[in-house]
Amino acid sequence: MTMHSPLYPWLHGEFARFHALQSQGRMPHALLISGEPGLGQSQLAMRLAQATLCYHPLEDGQACGQCGSCHPFLAGAHPDFSLLSPKDKDSKDDDAAKDKKDSKATDKKDKDIKINAVREFCAGLYLSSSFQHGKVGVIEPADVMTPAAANSLLKTLEEPPAGTLIILVSSQPARLPITIRSRCQRWLVPIPERAAALAWLAQQPQLAGEDPARVLDLAEGRPLAALELAEPERLAQRSRWLESLLHLLRAGGNPLALAASQDKTEWPQLLHWVRLLLVDLIRLQGAAHTPAAAMNLVNRDFADVLAPLAARLNARELFGLYDYLLELSRLINHPLNRELLMEELLIRFQRLGG
Ligand SMILES: [Zn+2]
Repeated sequence: MTMHSPLYPWLHGEFARFHALQSQGRMPHALLISGEPGLGQSQLAMRLAQATLCYHPLEDGQACGQCGSCHPFLAGAHPDFSLLSPKDKDSKDDDAAKDKKDSKATDKKDKDIKINAVREFCAGLYLSSSFQHGKVGVIEPADVMTPAAANSLLKTLEEPPAGTLIILVSSQPARLPITIRSRCQRWLVPIPERAAALAWLAQQPQLAGEDPARVLDLAEGRPLAALELAEPERLAQRSRWLESLLHLLRAGGNPLALAASQDKTEWPQLLHWVRLLLVDLIRLQGAAHTPAAAMNLVNRDFADVLAPLAARLNARELFGLYDYLLELSRLINHPLNRELLMEELLIRFQRLGG
């Protein structure tokens, strides 16, 4: 399945770095791969793992895909590789089994990584390598480890078994304890160059006639996020949401009802679109005499509505709301207050309209 899918072109730089470090024998024991979501960090982690274990890597350091190590790796059965992720999926099938077991089985639905899982993961790293090519473990997303789990990992990071590589993947590394971060070499996957991202997007069949530049802008330069956005349902959801927001600005609609009617799991996405809308409004305000068409707005399909709106909004409140939104994006993972935060956001949004 993954055997023939090429490395995303914008990750070649990261791979070259790995190759250089490895050939100089300077590869660290632990990496923290971060960057905005939607840049292929998972693929990078898996390719680094496979290449580390490969018997006959290619000249650029990538795994050969054909050796006695690559085969079991690609089949998901390499004895020297382990992947630790929250087990929040396929829990439906065990519902019946779960009822029969004790209440601890409800752990299945958790979105975090618990201490027992980390202990098991670390214990595996201390076993000797079956294929004599070291051991690799990937934790993704690493920022959902509970504090106890992170603490347990710390012990292994402090004294890593020889020949191991631990790769943590996180788009929110600030949520990891600093003690963990300081023991990993930090790799930040950058937003790819626009031309390269556009060229790659244009080749993707899932784009289905959508303008690559438009979806790349809506995803703020992240190619995989752009591809996801290009799904017709996603784009329709965005249009509906923007219509609702603009309705609020024109002093119509009820912010509390609007907040209540949104699917909570979609909130991070909705916030993303509010932010892009604010960015466009701020830019339009700062360039009152430039025609909207010449500004390369992110929401260019709404340019006709946004330009006259921007002219009558209060600049200070607009910036204030933008700051609030940034803070909210950090807090949105706290289930207790996020409903209130979303309501507050929409109330303030409506107030912008005066
Ligand atoms: Zn190989």
